[in-house]
Formats: sequence, C-alpha cells, structure tokens
Amino acid sequence: MNVKEMAEEFLVCPKCRCSLIYKKFKEKEMLVCGNCMVYYPVEDGIPVLLVEDAKSVAESGLDLNDVNGLKD
Ligand SMILES: [Zn+2]
Repeated sequence: MNVKEMAEEFLVCPKCRCSLIYKKFKEKEMLVCGNCMVYYPVEDGIPVLLVEDAKSVAESGLDLNDVNGLKD
C-alpha cells in the first residue's frame, strides 16, 4: 500500500475529520483537506498531520479547482 492509498483510506484531517486527498505538486507530496483548504506535508513518505503544520492551499499555488474536482 502506498502513501496515497493509505492516506485516502485511513487518514482524516485533524481539524475537521474530513478525508484527505493525496496530491503531488512540484515534486512534493502532500495531503489536502478540501474542506479546510489546507494541506499537510508528507515528509519521507510519512504524512505529518499536525494542525500547526497545516498550510494554506491558496498560498501553495495549488489549483483550487483541481482539488475540489478530485473531492467528487
Ligand atoms: Zn479539514
């Protein structure tokens, strides 16, 4: 099971408990919460799901429509 499968299957946003979306953007892996519009970094294959480490999706340059679209 890779990070994407594991994350989308088992992990939730620590803020709102919504499911997360795995994204690879500019060679960085991240888990996006489409509800909070933040992302959590994946460091060396390990998701860092800390509210303090959440970063704004808007500031990252990620396409919001892309994120919303994947949320189905
Ligand atoms: Zn959230």
